[in-house]
Amino acid sequence: MARYGFVFNVERCNGCFSCFLACKDEHTGNCHCPTCAATTECINLKRIDEVQYGSDDKVKVDYMHYVCQQCADPACMKKFPNEIYKRDDGIVIIDPEKAKGKKEIVDACPYNAIVWNPEAQLPQKCTMCAHMLDAGETVTRCSEVCPNAALLFGDLDDPNSEISKYVAEHKDELEKLHPEFGTGPAHWYRHIPKPFICGEVVCKDTDECCKGAKVTLTCDECGTARTTETDFLGDFEFRGLPTNKPFTVKIEADGYKPCELKARTKASVNLGEIFIEKA
Ligand code: SF4
Ligand code: SF4
Repeated sequence: MARYGFVFNVERCNGCFSCFLACKDEHTGNCHCPTCAATTECINLKRIDEVQYGSDDKVKVDYMHYVCQQCADPACMKKFPNEIYKRDDGIVIIDPEKAKGKKEIVDACPYNAIVWNPEAQLPQKCTMCAHMLDAGETVTRCSEVCPNAALLFGDLDDPNSEISKYVAEHKDELEKLHPEFGTGPAHWYRHIPKPFICGEVVCKDTDECCKGAKVTLTCDECGTARTTETDFLGDFEFRGLPTNKPFTVKIEADGYKPCELKARTKASVNLGEIFIEKA
């Protein structure tokens, strides 16, 4: 049996909101019962948050996508087994008839993926366009419109599907959203915004950018180390770091004294200009 899901490739998304608008277009005023009643203009089954991080001239902007995670063990269904069910293909459905008037269902999702439709008096959420899949489509409205291939949709149980091949190829870079909730979310995310440490290495004697310096980042707690080299502007960057961990940054360049700095990733850290001295 199929198990449908998405891969949200955050790094590829430029925040054009085409998927958001396609979702609105598919559902606003259109009844897709029994899987989803018509939504109204104020209802968004999908949310995209702009995330800005970094400081000064080292700022990044990413777009995080939030939808129902189509959990394997849905917290919503546990609390409302009469109103919510899971299909054989893994899609979790709020029954529009049985859930009518039950606003308390909105609070049953730890991901805040259920929204309340005050006009229809219904709790609603993403169904991964179940009505389209039932009609023989192989894509959702959001995934088919993305110009950047940032939204991959498909059958995660089929080893030959595009999404399964992608997941197998990029397994080390993919993660689930809040796995600690213990609900078994179906979707994968690549490059969730996380703190970075960056800086610019400058030779003190010449005041020139230091290209090709070796920069080593070591976690002071676990000892894990990563290395990189400064580019032609003397810049370096370590991305995707864990939050609130202590790090040591060591800079080594031929003919110069090694230099060490400390940084804690409460947020992203821009170490700014780092001057290294002649040996
Ligand atoms: S994300 Fe929330 S609404 Fe969706 S299946 Fe999981 S618990 Fe239910
Ligand atoms: S359509 Fe693609 S690029 Fe545009 S916001 Fe959605 S995921 Fe991002």
